[in-house]
Amino acid sequence: MPTSKPALTGESLATLSARLAERGEPAFRAKQILDWLYKKRVTSWDGMTNLSKPLRAWLDETFDFLPAELVVNQQSEDVTDKLLLELRDGSLIETVIIRAPQEGVGLDHSRKTICISTQVGCAMGCVFCASGLAGLKRNLTAGEIVAQLLHVCRREDARTPRARQELASFDNIVVMGMGEPLANYDALLRALTILNADWGLGFGARRITISTSGLVPKILQLADEPLGFRLAISLHGATDEVREKIMPVNRAYPLAKLLPAVKAFSEKHGRMVTLEFILIEDVNDSLEQARLLRDIALDLHAHVNLIPYNTVEGLPWKRPSLTRQERFADVLRAARVSTTLRREKGHDIDAACGQLRLKTEKARGLAAT
Ligand code: SAH
Ligand code: SF4
Repeated sequence: MPTSKPALTGESLATLSARLAERGEPAFRAKQILDWLYKKRVTSWDGMTNLSKPLRAWLDETFDFLPAELVVNQQSEDVTDKLLLELRDGSLIETVIIRAPQEGVGLDHSRKTICISTQVGCAMGCVFCASGLAGLKRNLTAGEIVAQLLHVCRREDARTPRARQELASFDNIVVMGMGEPLANYDALLRALTILNADWGLGFGARRITISTSGLVPKILQLADEPLGFRLAISLHGATDEVREKIMPVNRAYPLAKLLPAVKAFSEKHGRMVTLEFILIEDVNDSLEQARLLRDIALDLHAHVNLIPYNTVEGLPWKRPSLTRQERFADVLRAARVSTTLRREKGHDIDAACGQLRLKTEKARGLAAT
């Protein structure tokens, strides 16, 4: 049902306290409410049993408890769980949980990553990407971004009913789902602050990675934020010529602008930035591109994440052969560039994001034309 009420999940301790103070509530009330929401994880106002009935009724009139509903929880045979969520305006977004098993230990000890979305669609127009095919519908609100993580918590709670699962049991949160996060900067930062805060979900900023197609002024702004988030750059081309063909953003922010901004970010943070590089056959997978990528990575002291392209229905791009992928990776490894080459089907964090919504929208006949 459409609602114009602000989401409880978009409130900070300060904004909620201020709103409650207007109503004459004591100072501790906001913390109590946020504890019910994020720590005890009740699923309705009535679950907040130490609040008076009139206060619960006022909260219900004033705030939307959770602005996203779970539509499908698709568990693949392997290690990926996709939560498809419907927002109040009917828009669909997805949140993905990826378990990457570690050598020799079972799934229980795997690395767990959550991948969240920041927009409905995307305006950046990268030619290989399913998320941007229908353009941008709208930005997500901070409350909608945080709601995705609360749904992950609920799902985990349901898996282990006797002990509430802490979000801290996840190793990483990556902002790599649908949308360009830095094009929705204010809502993103507000959401990540709630995610990080003690009174919120308490998740360490250093375990949160923001992936961007390269919005230079926003990268520089992010470098000045007090919370030290990690940064990943979707590079996908080691020259302007190649990058421009597949990423229109390169016209506004070519490599001569992007790379110094990335350098400034990593110098400020003292952490390695990740360069993501999707390998697309005959587009960016030549050894010449590998050598240039190697030089960029060495200069930035960056980690390189090579991602074999995941084919998208209706698009002509292909993943190169395994031999070609390995040859590309070897150029980087030979120069001791820290490199990962993802290969296992379904374990691919980056490619796992962005595909489910499109399929469901098509099935529902909702896909924008
Ligand atoms: N807009 C941001 C974050 C979302 S996209 C960005 O572009 O970085 C997350 C990652 O998935 C990006 O690196 C993107 O280039 C990659 N990606 C998009 N479509 C893909 C596909 N079909 N196969 C593999 N990776 C893909
Ligand atoms: Fe948007 Fe990222 Fe997809 Fe490019 S790769 S269209 S920036 S979601």
